[in-house]
Amino acid sequence: MNCPRCNSSLSKEVINDMNASIEIDACNSCGGKWFDKGELTEIEKLVEPTFIEIRKIPKRKEQYAALSCPSCSNMQLLEKVEHPRDHKVIIDYCPSCKGIWLDKGELEAIKEENWFSILGKAFKWLIGYEPESI
Ligand SMILES: [Zn+2]
Ligand SMILES: [Zn+2]
Repeated sequence: MNCPRCNSSLSKEVINDMNASIEIDACNSCGGKWFDKGELTEIEKLVEPTFIEIRKIPKRKEQYAALSCPSCSNMQLLEKVEHPRDHKVIIDYCPSCKGIWLDKGELEAIKEENWFSILGKAFKWLIGYEPESI
């Protein structure tokens, strides 16, 4: 699998939380992380969702660059989804495999908080998300 942002190859990384650990695909070059649907489902089972506040994020222009899904194919573009309560935060989401790409800035902000509760909340919100046009 290659990084949707910089095209370096992704490597496995384990994230530990108080409650559990999950294995994800991480880019050592740009610091982005890929969470597939199965990983996010695991997270969702563990968490009591709390509100997410993400402060350090990439520039808007960077966030809006088109990315293709590392899991599906280069033809499958990730959708840009604005966080419903913080419109500065853009999450890249694959409508086909339901994976989520987090950029480095997004990751660092999340790391200050509780990983799993934040991701669980994001996942619940994305599953309920219905694009206006497909
Ligand atoms: Zn990268
Ligand atoms: Zn995909």
